[in-house]
Amino acid sequence: MNLKRIRKLNNKEAADGPVIYWMSRDQRVNDNWALIYAQEFKRPVIVLFCLVPEFLGATIRQYAFMLKGLQEVEKGLLKNNIPFHLLIGYPEIEIPKFIEKNRAGILVTDFDPLRIKRNWKDKIAKRIKMPFYEVDAHNIVPCWLASDKKEFGAYTLRPKINRLLPEFLEEFPKLSRQKQRPVRINNKWETLISYLKIDFNVKEVDWLKPGEKEAHKTLKNFIDKRLNDYPELRNDPNLSATSDLSSYLHFGQISAQRVGLEIKKSSAAKKAKQVFLEELIVRKELSDNFCFYEPNYDSVSGFPDWAKQTLIAHKKDKRKYLYTKEPLENGQTHDDLWNAAQLEMVKTGKMHNYMRMYWAKKILEWTKSLEQALEMAIYLNDKYELDGRDPNGYTGIAWSIGGVHDRAWQERPVFGKIRYMSYNGCKSKFDVKKYIVVQSEK
Ligand SMILES: Cc1cc2nc3c(=O)[nH]c(=O)nc-3n(C[C@H](O)[C@H](O)[C@H](O)COP(=O)(O)OP(=O)(O)OC[C@H]3O[C@@H](n4cnc5c(N)ncnc54)[C@H](O)[C@@H]3O)c2cc1C
Repeated sequence: MNLKRIRKLNNKEAADGPVIYWMSRDQRVNDNWALIYAQEFKRPVIVLFCLVPEFLGATIRQYAFMLKGLQEVEKGLLKNNIPFHLLIGYPEIEIPKFIEKNRAGILVTDFDPLRIKRNWKDKIAKRIKMPFYEVDAHNIVPCWLASDKKEFGAYTLRPKINRLLPEFLEEFPKLSRQKQRPVRINNKWETLISYLKIDFNVKEVDWLKPGEKEAHKTLKNFIDKRLNDYPELRNDPNLSATSDLSSYLHFGQISAQRVGLEIKKSSAAKKAKQVFLEELIVRKELSDNFCFYEPNYDSVSGFPDWAKQTLIAHKKDKRKYLYTKEPLENGQTHDDLWNAAQLEMVKTGKMHNYMRMYWAKKILEWTKSLEQALEMAIYLNDKYELDGRDPNGYTGIAWSIGGVHDRAWQERPVFGKIRYMSYNGCKSKFDVKKYIVVQSEK
């Protein structure tokens, strides 16, 4: 495999013993560069996942989707004679303990730009006595290689990615079946619920089924039925014209690289492929770039200077409407379109991309301070969206509220030079009335 996908996180030398793959962001058996790399050492591989009792405000909606996907991972690995252990507790404690107990010689994990994961990895890298490798199994072009700095926008990242795509958008090798059948492991899936300290009131969704198989079905369905119309229809929230892949991509139940390869192979029109791959590769990998190089990706200090200046200059502007958490969360503002979008997210776990932009911008318009707006948008997004807590989410919110990857627009109250979106603007783009009625019937 291309070794540029790998970074070493410490300076320790390899010892005897099996390779541990600590699966975290990329929760799948197939098309997984981290698992493929773990097998390159030609030693027995053990896969583990470390389940924390709470994670950045995730609820049972996201936990259940993930755990069902992981049960499928367990089965898929066992077919290849690869043991799968579900550890319970905090990775910086459980992983060194597991390594010691199993006399492992090498640790491999997958890449994630989010702070919490990087902190876990830093601690583990110091605590263990063996080499610790990180593989970017999520991006097609490894994040640190695509660019060595925070990019200004899609226009600066795009040429860098495009230059490297021929090297990295390649077919995956097949997983090797291990010789020895593993001893039976009882991961006690049925007792996990009692261990979780999460919100159980946000209901699971049933329109999207979790797991690697379902992810592939969803991709096939999109390619067969909707890809050709994607460029024209994707911005209409009344149509199901997009791929619905974001939750699968978020949990790593499908690889973006596999999606990219299948899209390229398909018989769809060139333009459709181009427009979709721009979102899947350039926009998505731009979000990882932002979170990787901007430590404050979820706070106002991560906004570009021009945006901070203009927002501060308009800090004291009079807001016509001011809402606290409750009316926002319950979708009880004066704006029926915003309420419909909020309720779409609460009920289904997915708000349409076009509405996400409008939704976040209105939170800026209707809250007392910039800091409060950002905090509220992240809180609501991550509580209800099935694909929440993703670099795409932090970046999408920072784009909407803080001008990240955008430019200055005409100055106006509250927003300053941040791009504005209005109810009437939405009316000119799609049938707003229909959207409101449909959401109220869900
Ligand atoms: C305020 C706001 C909040 C957002 N929150 C999230 C979030 O929590 N999680 C999340 O995954 N995405 C988030 N997005 C990005 C985008 O809205 C979703 O990725 C998209 O709606 C998912 O639907 P889909 O898979 O059908 O998209 P498709 O249109 O089919 O796109 C295919 C894939 O391309 C990527 N993509 C599409 N649009 C974007 C984009 N604008 N930025 C980066 N990548 C993109 C996604 O991985 C997506 O699955 C947010 C955007 C905004 C403006």
